[in-house]
Amino acid sequence: MPAPLQQIETPGELPQSADAVVIGGGIVGVFAAYYLARRGMQVVLVEKGRIGAEQSSRNWGWCRQQNRDARELPMATRSLDLWERFAVDTSEDTGFRRCGLLYLSNDEAELASWARWRDFAKTAGVTTHILDSAEASERGRATGRTWKGGVFSPTDGTADPPRAAPSVARAILKLGGSVHQNCAARGIETEGGRLSGVITENGTIRTKLAVLAGGAWASSFCHQFGFRFPQASIRSSILSVSPSAEGLPDALHTARISATRRGDGGYTLAISGRGRLDVTPQQLRFSSQFLPMFLKRWRSLGPGGLQGMRSGHETLRHWRLDQPTPMERMRILDPVPDQATIRLTHARALELLPALRQTRISAAWAGYIDSTPDGVPAIGEIHSVPGFFLAAGFSGHGFGIGPGAGHLVADLMTGSEPIVDPKSYDPRRFEASVWGKVADF
Ligand SMILES: Cc1cc2nc3c(=O)[nH]c(=O)nc-3n(C[C@H](O)[C@H](O)[C@H](O)COP(=O)(O)OP(=O)(O)OC[C@H]3O[C@@H](n4cnc5c(N)ncnc54)[C@H](O)[C@@H]3O)c2cc1C
Repeated sequence: MPAPLQQIETPGELPQSADAVVIGGGIVGVFAAYYLARRGMQVVLVEKGRIGAEQSSRNWGWCRQQNRDARELPMATRSLDLWERFAVDTSEDTGFRRCGLLYLSNDEAELASWARWRDFAKTAGVTTHILDSAEASERGRATGRTWKGGVFSPTDGTADPPRAAPSVARAILKLGGSVHQNCAARGIETEGGRLSGVITENGTIRTKLAVLAGGAWASSFCHQFGFRFPQASIRSSILSVSPSAEGLPDALHTARISATRRGDGGYTLAISGRGRLDVTPQQLRFSSQFLPMFLKRWRSLGPGGLQGMRSGHETLRHWRLDQPTPMERMRILDPVPDQATIRLTHARALELLPALRQTRISAAWAGYIDSTPDGVPAIGEIHSVPGFFLAAGFSGHGFGIGPGAGHLVADLMTGSEPIVDPKSYDPRRFEASVWGKVADF
């Protein structure tokens, strides 16, 4: 079942040239296109399916600094401001609110790790409140339980996944940019070693600058021109329930269940970190690089099935540019949710939050989370093809940092002062056999 999505219409002819082309209309691609358009550039965004229809509408909507890896924290902080700024500048509503995120636990080791993160966050100027047992139990009163402790991060928040990317796409159109749905990019052209065009199923767009913000499809696309980008997808299954539960926190995390208030007043329910690994040729190719990450998360990852083979997003095949590619055969990556996870999630949620017993399940879906071996995204120029940039591998954290990532892409493409230090994101780090440690959260 597809996740709920606000659909937008984007009629119009595909331009034959552009100052910059953005491939992929998830949250990262739309924000990159938006910030390029704001600089007066003629931007064309091509999306093989619908704007926001893959990961960017399938997530919980958390926009957090809390528990971020040090490499991503500056981008998370800047992104929270950018979510707010975007609403002011465009009058578009992404549903973003600084509602604060609540974490509750009875596990001493988990509480200690949150306290360590608080100490580190202080050095970065980020406010987070460690809750003692009385405070945690009071904030978590909807559970009717006593908690040993918790965390409340008052400056974090949530945006509404079904409408966030579509609202940014509308803002691109208002700025004179052009957006094309059902238009897959099949490949790139070069002249003298530099990017000279993007080949789409509807024709070639001549350009000197492009970015691939293709989510789970990015590695197989890079494979076509020989750039090695280790990426693996984890299938995560979640559900939503109808509005009517009162008195719940807007965003609650516990080890057993997480609940997030949606824009329609219902709740998204999920088990943090739980996922299935569907075997694909690409996953087998990069398995040794992913071993440390999979070992770190082995308790919550289970074996999947063959649906990843059928969907084609992690193929190692070289496709022809004059024929339909796997991207046109799979307009929207819509994996089948794991029913056992959906049942367990729902049962745990009703047990922890009795108010949810008055609700009914409104939807259940899955999404492929595109991960890198170190859990940090790849953002930067692909140096073997000057003018061509990559922004993918957001490893389950890309929605909240979508504005900052899009801004950074626009900065790098235009040679402007980068909004955050781009060093940790450099896609070249995967060329070395050793890279940074796997992100903790
Ligand atoms: C269940 C779940 C829960 C999550 N929860 C959170 C959360 O609470 N907070 C958070 O920050 N993150 C969360 N994430 C992660 C977050 O959703 C992603 O990191 C983020 O949406 C990635 O955005 P993106 O634009 O890179 O990719 P996507 O949203 O996947 O978009 C990529 C787009 O590119 C298009 N595309 C690909 N190839 C081509 C091509 N060749 N031509 C044209 N178009 C192409 C695809 O069709 C797709 O629309 C979650 C993810 C899932 C699945």
